[in-house]
This record gives sequence, C-alpha cells and structure tokens, in this order.
Amino acid sequence: MQEDKIILYIEDDPQARFLMADIIRYKGYIYLEASRGLEGIQLAEQHTPDLILIDLMLPDMQGYEVTTHLKTLPRLDSTPIIAITAATQKNVKEMVLAAGCDGFIPKPINVSEFVYKIEEYLSGHKDNMEPEEERLYLQKYNIQLVSRLKKKILELETLNENLTALNSELFASKEELSHYNDRLFYLNNLSNYLRTLTDPLDVIRILPQKIIEGFQMKRCVIFETGYNEETLIPAATSGIPLSFLEQNKTRLSRQFFHELSKEGHILWIKDPAEIVDESLVTFSQRLDTSNFIIGNISNLGIHKGFGAVLSDSGVEILPELDLPFSRQYLVFIDKGKKGVPFHTYEVRIMKSLLHSAAITYENILLHTQLVNLYKIKAEQAIRDEMTNMYNYRYFIQELHRETNRSKRFKTCYSLMMVDIDHFKKYNDKNGHPEGDKALKLISGLMDQNTRTTDTVCRYGGEEFTIIMPGLKKTEAIMIAEKLRTLIENHRFSGEGEEPCCKLTISIGVASYPEDSTQPEVLLQLADKAMYNAKSQGRNRVVAS
Ligand code: GH3
Ligand code: MG
Ligand code: MG
Repeated sequence: MQEDKIILYIEDDPQARFLMADIIRYKGYIYLEASRGLEGIQLAEQHTPDLILIDLMLPDMQGYEVTTHLKTLPRLDSTPIIAITAATQKNVKEMVLAAGCDGFIPKPINVSEFVYKIEEYLSGHKDNMEPEEERLYLQKYNIQLVSRLKKKILELETLNENLTALNSELFASKEELSHYNDRLFYLNNLSNYLRTLTDPLDVIRILPQKIIEGFQMKRCVIFETGYNEETLIPAATSGIPLSFLEQNKTRLSRQFFHELSKEGHILWIKDPAEIVDESLVTFSQRLDTSNFIIGNISNLGIHKGFGAVLSDSGVEILPELDLPFSRQYLVFIDKGKKGVPFHTYEVRIMKSLLHSAAITYENILLHTQLVNLYKIKAEQAIRDEMTNMYNYRYFIQELHRETNRSKRFKTCYSLMMVDIDHFKKYNDKNGHPEGDKALKLISGLMDQNTRTTDTVCRYGGEEFTIIMPGLKKTEAIMIAEKLRTLIENHRFSGEGEEPCCKLTISIGVASYPEDSTQPEVLLQLADKAMYNAKSQGRNRVVAS
C-alpha cells in the first residue's frame, strides 16, 4: 500500500528536488515538492502528507518557522518532519531538534540507506537518543523557544504600541474631521440664512452671535469705522459687554488698515509679538487676548466702488440715495481671554464665513439701493416736480382706472377741474417765483383738505384736477365749496394793496355716472363747468 503514502519535500535546490523525485517515485510513493517554506506549508495543509522532508535553509523562512507552524496544524501533529542537512555542519542534531524536527538524514544522500530510513519513519520510527541526551536537547530547545517567544512578544508589544498610537491619531483626526464637518454644515446654513435677509445692517447685527453659537468662539465684535475716522465704534457684539467697548475706545492707525489690506483683509494673530501696530497691541491687551482673527469685511465683497460705477455709466446719483460705502466694518473674533489658539481648520472656516458675509452684505446693500432707486424713479415718473402733486400722465391713467373700478363695483366718483383766478395778474405783480410759491401752497392746501383716497393732480399751468372716489355730485360740490373758501381766506405773500395777497379759484364739477360714464366726456364737462364759473364772475363752484 505504498502508493497511498504521500511524501512532501521542501527544498530550494532544484537539483536536490530532481534527485529526490526520482528516488521517491521509484519506491512508489506520491511525491510532492515545494521550493519555499510558505508553499510547503500550503501543500502540507492541502494534502496532509505522511512524511515531510525539509531543508532547514530556505530562502523565504527559517526552517524552524516552517516546522513550528506545521506542528501546530492538528492534522499534521503526528506527521514526522525530517531534516535533510549536510552532515558536515556542527551540532546537526541540536539544530534539527531545535527546529522541532523528528529526525535528520545527512547529505549527501546514500540512496539505499535513505530509502531504508524513510520507510522506518513512515512506519512510526523516531531517532533513538539517550534519555539524558534527549533531555538536554529538549532543554536547549525549550530555552531557544522561550527566547524566541520573548523576542516575538517584544516585537508584538512594540507593534501594539504603534497601533495604539496610530489609532488615537486616527481617532483625533476623525474627531477633527467630524468637527470640521459640523462647522461646514453650520457655515452653509448660516450663509443661506444671511441671503434671506433684506436689511444689510441685519447681516452686521446678527453675525457676532451666530459666530459664537455655531463655531465655538467666545467673543466676536463688529466695529463700524469710516475711511477717514478710524475710531472703532461697536456695531454688534457678543461675548464682550457694549459698555466695556464704549469705555475702551480704540483708534486704529492707517498703517494697520494698510497692513490688513496687504494680508487679504483678514489677519490671524497667533502671537502678540507679531502685531506691528501699537494701537492694536493696546487693543489686544485691553481684551486680554493673544490669539485672534481680525478682518475687514467691507473690503471682501465684489461691489467695491458701486457709487463710481453708477456715475461712470452716466446714471445720476440721487441725493435721496444713501450710499454707505463710506463705512467699513471690522470684525474681531477670538476663543476667549488669554488667547486660546485656533485650529487651522477653524481659521479657514472663519475666513470663508467672513467672505460670504461680506459678499452677502454688499449684495443686500446693492439690492436695497436699487429698489430705492427704482421707487424714487417710479415716483418721479408720476409726480409734478414743482408742486409734488401727481402729473397729467398719472391723472389720465387714474381717471380711467377709477372709471373701471366704479363700473366694476357699481359706485360713483366725482371729478373737479380747478383753475386759479387772474393768476397772470398775480404773477405780474409779485413775480414768477412768488407765483410758483402760490401754486405750491394752493395745491398743498387742496391735498391736505381732501381724503387720502382723493387724487390731486397738476393738470397743467395753474390748473388742477381732483378725482374723488365714492363721491356723488352733491357731496363733491360741498367739498369744492370748502376748498374754494379755504383758498379765498388764505393770505398769500405779496406786495401792494389788496387784493394782492388774495387768490381765488374757480371749480367745475362733473360726476360719474350722473353726467357721463365716459372719462373723456367727464373731463370735458368738468372743464366746461369751470369755464362757466369763470364767466359767472370767478371764485365759485359750478357743477355740470
Ligand atoms: P383766469 O382767471 O381767466 O384763469 O386768468 P389767468 O390769468 O389765471 O389765466 P391765463 O390763462 O390768462 O393765465 C394763466 C397764468 O398762469 C399765466 C402763467 O404765467 C401762469 N402760470 C402758469 N404756470 C405757471 C407756473 O408754473 N408758475 C407761475 N408762476 N405761473 C404760472
Ligand atoms: Mg388757466
Ligand atoms: Mg387762471
């Protein structure tokens, strides 16, 4: 039954393997070979050989490493492992035992002796040894094993220490990443929130508190300052009482602003020795800090010189439009007294936030200004410049709108045509500027003494129209009479004898739907009635 026996030979020398293959196959055994230790272990695991022959000098592993491993495999614990070693070597027996082998066959191989020996090993033979000799070898083997184990344990301990250090490093960077991630998330939300604001000053007002809440900062102040006046005026603060800031006013030098602009408008001070500006040194001493961020958010945006752009393109800058580009906002942020240092990632996040806030601030500012400009222009388009009453264009639009409304809601309205009597004479006597004053006064008086729903318009020259929604003709006549008396009793400035300081008005009234449902016809009727009032002697009200 020799054919069933498997012999594995682990040997790196191909010639030795070639020879061994011949001998073993000739004897009818199954021959397996490996040129390296690891390959030998794998083959042994797969095929469970009955005998393993091993050369103790292998290129990849020590012989004892291979044998120790093989001996730990449960299916191989009774498989004899025989070393094939050069007999010329000293302490062959000792080496072989130390390697955990069951015996050895010296090289060069004597074929007949070799065959005899392997048959013996296959049938369970173990090399004979004197008990005392065996005890000594085993003792040596044990000592070697213990020292090998100690070495291994030391190696493992160092490895373990390294792994622990690596692990805590990984943990720390994981923590940092997680913090970074949280801050980025908050930064994104805050930037989105800022964009929903409509008042640019709200950006400044809310920023310090948001910075402290979301980024674990301790103190944040935004100072307002002009370009010429560098005293810092607190605009918003969190973490430092306003009273403290007001009592400790700081005036930063031009030099500092210059330095700041060279640094991209945001400075991270890590050490008070870095501060070149004396006023900033005092400032940091007062706040008892040595690690802080200072940035000028007015200069980080994209719309610098908006006013100039407006004038360059030829657009008029209206005096009503406030262009607060002459203000700047300086932000101070730190992590508390004594200057708790920032992480670099925190500085990066703060820089991003300040950039984002600055751009948002300027966008909102620009947007508000454009809306205001639009409102002013839209208002100008419908107002008479001198009297500030609605103009002719607006009157015609409003007359049609009121007609449509009245039709739709089945209501009424009245229309008045007002003309100043002998105004030419007034002008001639008092001069045109006085005439202008009188026009403003009369229109103003009419406006103040009618309802807010009524529309007073300058129709042209010294003629005015008033649209009075919801008023029937009888009611409109009463109002017209009230206005007429009001003007008649008013004393205008003027020189000379009476009636130099007196002015009167003639009013024509027409009503919807009593007189007509057509706006153009109503206008003609009111005008005609006004002329009738003139021809009847002026200073009177005539209805259509
Ligand atoms: P009547 O009683 O018939 O209305 O006499 P009148 O002089 O008021 O009428 P007329 O149409 O002869 O002259 C209108 C005058 O109103 C002439 C013009 O100088 C004056 N006027 C029109 N617009 C203005 C203005 O904007 N400023 C001034 N100061 N005067 C104006
Ligand atoms: Mg007239
Ligand atoms: Mg007139």
